[in-house]
Amino acid sequence: MTAGEWVAPALAVLLVAAFGVTVDGWTRHVHPALGARLLLATSALASAALLGTLAMLALPLVGQNDALADYARWSEAVFARSSSSGRVVALAAGVSLAVVIVRAAREIRGQQRATGTAESFRRAVGASRGEVVITADESLDAMALSSGVIVLTSGLVRALDASERRAVLTHERAHVSFGHHRYRQLGRLLAALNPLLSRVPNCLDYLTERWADEEAARATSRATTASALERTALLSAPKPPRARTAMHATAVAVELRVRALRAHPPALRWSRLLTPLLIVFALMLVTLMVSERTIDVLQLAGAFGD
Ligand SMILES: [Zn+2]
Repeated sequence: MTAGEWVAPALAVLLVAAFGVTVDGWTRHVHPALGARLLLATSALASAALLGTLAMLALPLVGQNDALADYARWSEAVFARSSSSGRVVALAAGVSLAVVIVRAAREIRGQQRATGTAESFRRAVGASRGEVVITADESLDAMALSSGVIVLTSGLVRALDASERRAVLTHERAHVSFGHHRYRQLGRLLAALNPLLSRVPNCLDYLTERWADEEAARATSRATTASALERTALLSAPKPPRARTAMHATAVAVELRVRALRAHPPALRWSRLLTPLLIVFALMLVTLMVSERTIDVLQLAGAFGD
């Protein structure tokens, strides 16, 4: 591998890292529904580009395998010819790929377990999707489970007035009807597949909360939604945990969300989207460069026949 061949993979890593550290910035300046959808789409593209690059860099490792070479009818000698630095890069890419696949498998298993627990709870209480369950609990909490059940505590029902209760309920219903748990699960999976996107899950937690807040504000008012959120956070005892399947009302950035509700509704500023779109576009170009080189090598090895 020559010095020039290092440029594309290094550039891919740098671009994904740049994407990963800028997500908090641009997503705060667009409507949360657009922000969440765009963040998920661009993160998926960034992850696919980096995983594809790793797989292509690791190709010499598997290309030299006799059985695979026989099966694919290519010349393993072409892959064996790579320089020592090329072999180090292939090995590093192969190990990284194996690590992220294990991380993703672990994350999927964790999500399946958590989804199973939420589903068992739904069946145990005999509720269907979108139904509200009120638990006899003096603490203040409201949450939407991934199984579609909305849980409110009796303490919360008593502490809020009618319009605040409506705001809380609309907020939780928005989580269920827009499938926000899927955004969060996909965000965690993408971060498992690509550690450079470690900020994406927190960002998606925040955006889906803000999205549900905006739905509640539309159904009631911005002031009512803000006061319901503030009162719930103030009167609920310790900070509720961030779980894989339960979206608690006050687990995510209450202060920031109240400030956003007290300000004007978010307007779309296209200029804010330039950074992520340009980074993803540059990443696609880099991946294309790596793909072209891989196709050249495969052609040389006779993988596409005569
Ligand atoms: Zn919520």
